[in-house]
Amino acid sequence: MCVQEVLERVRTQVREGSREVPSVDAVVAEVQVRLDDVMRPRPKPVINATGVVLHTNLGRAPLAPSARSAMLGAAGYCDLEIAIGSGIRQSRLTAITWLLRALCHAEDVLIVNNGAAAILLACTALTGGRPGGVALSRGQMVEIGDSFRVADMAAAGGTPVVAVGSTNRTHTRDYQRVCESGEAAAMLWVHRSNFTQAGFVGEPGISELKKIADAFNVSLIADLGSGCLHRDLFHNEPTIAEVLAQGADIVTCSGDKLLGGPQAGLLAGRREVIAKCRRHPMARALRVDKVTLAALHATLVAHASEDGERALPIHALANILMRELRVRAEKLIHALEWPEEAIVEVPDTVGGGSLPGQTLPGVALCVPEALGKASAVARKLRSGDIPVFARVHAGRVFVHLRTVFAEDDPTLCRMLAAVHP
Ligand SMILES: *Cc1c(COP(=O)(O)O)cnc(C)c1O
Repeated sequence: MCVQEVLERVRTQVREGSREVPSVDAVVAEVQVRLDDVMRPRPKPVINATGVVLHTNLGRAPLAPSARSAMLGAAGYCDLEIAIGSGIRQSRLTAITWLLRALCHAEDVLIVNNGAAAILLACTALTGGRPGGVALSRGQMVEIGDSFRVADMAAAGGTPVVAVGSTNRTHTRDYQRVCESGEAAAMLWVHRSNFTQAGFVGEPGISELKKIADAFNVSLIADLGSGCLHRDLFHNEPTIAEVLAQGADIVTCSGDKLLGGPQAGLLAGRREVIAKCRRHPMARALRVDKVTLAALHATLVAHASEDGERALPIHALANILMRELRVRAEKLIHALEWPEEAIVEVPDTVGGGSLPGQTLPGVALCVPEALGKASAVARKLRSGDIPVFARVHAGRVFVHLRTVFAEDDPTLCRMLAAVHP
């Protein structure tokens, strides 16, 4: 296949006149380059110099060392679904459930593949067997990355989404009306995780929604997206425990955003509500694998340990001080012999569907203009043996240091030094 692909390309180029007929050796060499490329381990490690801590295209949360080694440990045979003491089969979630329940202050929890799967399962399982769909405010119809929309995920299992209110304002009476008419079998509250609203806006909070949910005996699902466990780490993000305490029957979120773990979807909430989700056939289709579970468990252990959460890479990156960033920037420009003006203050973000509108103060190296056009420099930085992803803004290339691990500075320096006009 590889030979045919390369030959086809060569024929086309020769036919179009963009190339002379190559020698057999040259074609063989091209095939080898292509083969080497597809056989190299993927996804390949890169340096994130974008200043976006949770960059979905760059793999969201970098995992803690303990999570990485747990993944390796679970990769072979492991006690995934068996109790070592009794030798009896048990759920793969038995070991992790206690820890996650404790951290979320939830009666019960369930883990699936990702945040989208958690929404899909909750909306499908909690409306199944009754007429009506999920009521969702028009102001919370969030579109996340790659043009996927929360409302579509909620409806993907066949549950209709009933739009309530307007874009800027939704009232309790809007929810009341669709519950009264029997159009809604559940209510979905979605955290505006990647945008903010200002001006003439308003909507009922979770505790107000809970009153309506109880009055009409419908479930209240809260899609939190970001999955923050502690207020002290990310001040403006609601935590899973808070949203449950306000009255949500079930909270859904991602494992690889503010939780700092692997791609996973968490569901936390009331016992009978989680039980409905667990028993739904879809739960089996969306279940999580052993390697992910191992990484998630180690991440939760870090959250539960004294000071352990500070050891999670995303928290460490989000909390780096300007002073440290400046020292690293000075060292780099000294080694590169770039001018002092190359060090600039820039805004960094946490990203990944969290803390919308908020920035962190950051430091970047602005690649000297003399080294070439921004797009060409950015491409060159991406094409090294360790690709560097920088930010191109206003015709310049910015290498944000917050998201570069300090131990990668020598590699970064080598990659930057390789950029020539
Ligand atoms: C990120 C996000 C999702 C989707 O989660 P994935 O883990 O990416 O599938 C859903 N809802 C909200 C509000 C989000 O921010």
